[in-house]
Amino acid sequence: MTMIRCISPVNGEVYAERAAMPLELARQAVAQARLAQKSWAKRPLDERVKLVLAGVARLNEMVDEVVPELAWQMGRPVRYGGEFKGFNERSNYVASIAADALKPLVAEESDRFERRIEREPHGVVFVIAPWNYPYMTAINTVAPALMAGNTVILKHASQTILVGERMVRAFVEAGVPADVFQNLFLDHDTTAALIAARSFDFINFTGSVEGGRSIERAAAGTFAGLGLELGGKDPGYVMADADLDAAVDTLMDGATYNSGQCCCGIERIYVHESLYDAFVEKSVAWVSNYRLGNPLDPETTLGPMANKRFAATVRSQIADAVSKGAKALIDPKRFPEDDGGAYLAPQILVDVDHSMEFMREETFGPAVGIMKVKSDAEAIDLMNDSQYGLTASLWTRDAERAARIGRELETGTVFMNRADYLDPALCWTGVKETGRGGSLSVLGFHNLTRPKSYHLKKVTA
Ligand code: NAP
Repeated sequence: MTMIRCISPVNGEVYAERAAMPLELARQAVAQARLAQKSWAKRPLDERVKLVLAGVARLNEMVDEVVPELAWQMGRPVRYGGEFKGFNERSNYVASIAADALKPLVAEESDRFERRIEREPHGVVFVIAPWNYPYMTAINTVAPALMAGNTVILKHASQTILVGERMVRAFVEAGVPADVFQNLFLDHDTTAALIAARSFDFINFTGSVEGGRSIERAAAGTFAGLGLELGGKDPGYVMADADLDAAVDTLMDGATYNSGQCCCGIERIYVHESLYDAFVEKSVAWVSNYRLGNPLDPETTLGPMANKRFAATVRSQIADAVSKGAKALIDPKRFPEDDGGAYLAPQILVDVDHSMEFMREETFGPAVGIMKVKSDAEAIDLMNDSQYGLTASLWTRDAERAARIGRELETGTVFMNRADYLDPALCWTGVKETGRGGSLSVLGFHNLTRPKSYHLKKVTA
């Protein structure tokens, strides 16, 4: 029997394990989901929305278990209280727009014709979720998919193996039928076999570029819809007219919160030469205030990375950059809890350039590079010099200038004077190797349904 294990970053020991589901049982679970979908879709939208929100409310009641469980599984300090703010905000927002997003587009409603496009659920939606924001990334698809009349099968990351189980428990306790929302413990081979057999009508994968490639390969030729929300190397650009303190605060938080393990975390910063020295100095002071340590300690503000292998990648990128001339501004001795394993001190590198892996590959850790720029044109070139494109954060008092620069950027979202935030009213999407598709917003609902055209000619004689 293959076991799926979560090795806790807190102490390096197995925190939870579950047996991987054999393919035959997984097939049966999918068949049940397919059967249940017909009657779920026939329920009024209002009822589906209410049941999903009841599931969300039930999960909120589990806060005292969820928060330490998250700390054990992926290292986020308990002081941050889990992911309930974003989880609830996204769920409530999609609930509020569901009726409007799913309503038919009417071309004609006359004595002679009814012509309209209705939205139909795909059927069975498969959600593959990552560990970095395990509840929020999952709910982005789970909530609107269920509301739209799909049934959902969730496969969560090994690192956060208990999250899918807990979400499903909350939803089922709140009244969502067990076959409508299921969590399966699946290894990669079984996942790929199910996808290749066209078990699902739509697949939403959130995770690494390599993972996304594997899923796309498995789905090849099945014509199942595929949403791919992959990695990022998101830039910030601080212009000469920026509010410096606000820029430091938000960009440093965006670079290091959750130990830098955010898909839209800030990984590289370009600062106009007139503000560069002050920005760097303030950033070093900002980051130095972190308290690295055991995430179960309420005083800890920076937990370990989710797995020591992720911290090893960050260390290796930093070492490579330093060997090529970068300067590390944070002395790791300030953070004696840095153990060379999962516990990793935050870092700021200067004297970096784009020949370094650190400035090109996703780092996904509490480390950021800062470069000086002379002009918007130079900043735009550098921001676009990446295989990724999820968000870009522009710092200026001039909204028109930000919009003008934004139009030049190869990215899914342009922020002005904020960063590292997912607005559920806007489409979450990426370009280049960050993937394709889009979640949340009205467009998210459209991606989780398919159009069906009705062309009804009336007999008038
Ligand atoms: P990952 O290793 O690709 O895993 C993501 C999920 O996919 C997990 O459930 C994983 O299961 C599964 N998976 C990976 N490869 C698979 C395969 N070949 N077959 C079947 N399932 C597979 O990514 P991660 O390390 O969890 O997450 C971090 C990455 O996600 C970063 O690159 C980050 O930027 C990206 N991310 C993107 C967004 C976005 O909105 N664009 C949001 C959050 C995270 P196992 O854990 O069992 O391997």
